[in-house]
Amino acid sequence: MHAQAPRANFNYPTLYRLGCGRRRELAAACAEFKISRPLVITDPGIAPLAWSRELIADLERAGLAVAVFSDIQGNPVEANVTAGVAAYHAHRADGCVLLGGGSALDAGKCVALMAHHPGSVFDYEDVGDNWLRVDPSKIAPMIALPTTSGTGSEVGRASVITDTRDHTKKIIFHPRMLPPLVIADPETTYGLPPAVTAATGVDAFVHCFEAYCAPGYHPMAEAIALEGMRLVAQHLVTCFHQPHDPVARTHMMMASTMGATAFQRGLGLVHAIAHPLGATVGIHHGLANAILLPYVMQHNRPVIAAAMDRLAAYLGLAQPGFDGVYAWVLELRAALQIPHTLTEAAIPGLHPGLAPSLAEAATRDPSLGTNPKPCTTAEIEAVLRAAFTG
Ligand SMILES: [Zn+2]
Repeated sequence: MHAQAPRANFNYPTLYRLGCGRRRELAAACAEFKISRPLVITDPGIAPLAWSRELIADLERAGLAVAVFSDIQGNPVEANVTAGVAAYHAHRADGCVLLGGGSALDAGKCVALMAHHPGSVFDYEDVGDNWLRVDPSKIAPMIALPTTSGTGSEVGRASVITDTRDHTKKIIFHPRMLPPLVIADPETTYGLPPAVTAATGVDAFVHCFEAYCAPGYHPMAEAIALEGMRLVAQHLVTCFHQPHDPVARTHMMMASTMGATAFQRGLGLVHAIAHPLGATVGIHHGLANAILLPYVMQHNRPVIAAAMDRLAAYLGLAQPGFDGVYAWVLELRAALQIPHTLTEAAIPGLHPGLAPSLAEAATRDPSLGTNPKPCTTAEIEAVLRAAFTG
């Protein structure tokens, strides 16, 4: 018999409705947000699932005119956004329902942005004051339903879109890209393959970890990050082995949201390397982070000792300090059957010869600016070489 899974409504950092089965509140939520012709933006893996088809049928029974757009790839590109905007206008949609993992949520947030804005999505890249080009009143209404527990994109104010011209991931940002309503139903994650549960769950952990280690005064972000890491420590392995556990799935969905809330403080070198890795060879973002984390920890070790003392104590680890956290991270990865090196991950096209160009790209990634220890291109290359060889 399972313990009772948590169920709650929050209005921080946005309207947030958490609990098993709550996806069935979507039709009422559309009415609340005055959406009568929703474009459901989802990924091709979700669209054919029985529960998502039932969800669409629910909306239709409630009298909504629904169209589904699912032409979105992992590590989404501008063409996915452009096609989504075309689908939005073809349907004469008046709002977006974002249903999926990070790729669908990120692409969907950009469709909502670009539905009534001119030019290329990259005109709104998070550089300088580009975000002032946006008229917030012209961002389409959106409701987000995350179906993985990792990216936390449902509470993010930005999207990551790959620029195929130079194989970089670019951040599209506007404060109003934060979906005004999130419906977080842990049942939508029950069907995730164990490897996806593992990779996305470690991504949530790394969001908390990098936000926790980032420099600058931000006790709110630190507190959220610490508790997010504790929830991952307590529940991720259960989700991996018992995918239908409502309690563990609910806490992991919460941890994912907490990671993205905390990383408003910034990320670090793990993400700075994972972004060009994803843009270059299409490796799953969470898997890249999971592999890279211990190697980056070693690089940052001299400056994160005090933070690791507190983290080890908070997690209740047997061994204190950096060594305790490091050993526990390796154990967690092994329990989740995550490869120890990039070589073991056996990604087509990924080989150590790419280390110099990946390191060079990482130096230009915006996540690098909040890594706790500054790093040269040569140092990043050394981290990458270690991640290849172990
Ligand atoms: Zn991430």
